[in-house]
Amino acid sequence: MPPSTDAVRQVSPKNGKAAPADLASERAHALATKALRYAEAYGTPPEPKAFEVWYAFAAGEPEDLRREISTIIEKNGALDNYELNQIHTEFFSGSEQERRHQEMLGYHLDREMEKAAQRVHKHLVTNEHYSGSLKKTATSLSAASTPEQVRETVEVLLMENARMRAESAKLNRDLEQTRVQVRKLRSSLEKARENEFRDPLTNVSNRRHFERALNKLIGEAHAGHTPLCLVMADIDHFKRINDTFGHQVGDDVLRYFAALLMKNVKGQDLVARYGGEEFCIVLPQTTIGNAQHLIRQIMGQLDTANLVMTNGKDPIGKVTSSFGIATLGAGEESVQLIRRADARLYQAKHAGRNRVMCDPAA
Ligand code: GH3
Ligand code: MG
Ligand code: MG
Repeated sequence: MPPSTDAVRQVSPKNGKAAPADLASERAHALATKALRYAEAYGTPPEPKAFEVWYAFAAGEPEDLRREISTIIEKNGALDNYELNQIHTEFFSGSEQERRHQEMLGYHLDREMEKAAQRVHKHLVTNEHYSGSLKKTATSLSAASTPEQVRETVEVLLMENARMRAESAKLNRDLEQTRVQVRKLRSSLEKARENEFRDPLTNVSNRRHFERALNKLIGEAHAGHTPLCLVMADIDHFKRINDTFGHQVGDDVLRYFAALLMKNVKGQDLVARYGGEEFCIVLPQTTIGNAQHLIRQIMGQLDTANLVMTNGKDPIGKVTSSFGIATLGAGEESVQLIRRADARLYQAKHAGRNRVMCDPAA
């Protein structure tokens, strides 16, 4: 039985008059107690990371985290340290680090722009000063009565001009430096934004991006009355690969599998890592027949792939995957579509794995 979080939602003040702050701290206390109990029950290490995950699980938020943990526990009756770390990275550390990184880049970008503005301002002030000097010397020049006075005035003029030229050259250098700096920062910021939506291990879209993109593509499919298919893939007996060859090889297999999916899609199609060894493919403008054809093609390539360890020539053996395909129904939203594709994947697993199950062709 997966632990339920329902009881937590029923925590209420002992009398109806508790102040909001009391309520909040009482709830936090109840959640913390629950989190500690989960940690104890599942034997996870006494670390802040584990506590953070269990606390969120107890609170039932984010909903995806609660679902992911429930599924693992339902399936394995336990949550190992590796899975816990994965969940923590997926829901907390990754996004938090990226957010901080982006904030930092944004801050530097602002500062560089500010510096550039200050430089231009300073130049304008110097310019004004120079115009003032020019005016003054023009007046002294017209009032000059001896060659000595003229020479002196011209000298001042030349000096002022030289100073102005030096100032301009310095400003140009500074502005050029700023321009280079701003360009670098902007490109880092763009990269950081891209990374926010990419799974660092496999380089395909992450779940956050998948969910956003799927909603958008579903909207377009409804608006244009075009078909759309969602494929859910889950590598078969992946735990065995990890257990036999180690996580490093497991990671390599994940990378290989993601690349294989990418190689087979085109255009608007979207490949994403949905969870540990689960991937999904969104196929806009694709009928169920064509989606099935594509998956059979991928299965064929997987079947003939000869995966070996990178260090030596030891074979890893056959890697297979199960697939579920659902086609978008009239007025259907992403949640239902994902659920139906997942149900097909579940059927494929139960029918013996290494196969594809899909909605009947329309
Ligand atoms: P099934 O055929 O039913 O899908 O069995 P399975 O062994 O593939 O499924 P299960 O869910 O039992 O195990 C999946 C494992 O994948 C558990 C987890 O430790 C591992 N895993 C999840 N993410 C990663 C990862 O990023 N790298 C590695 N190496 N392993 C991962
Ligand atoms: Mg799985
Ligand atoms: Mg699996």
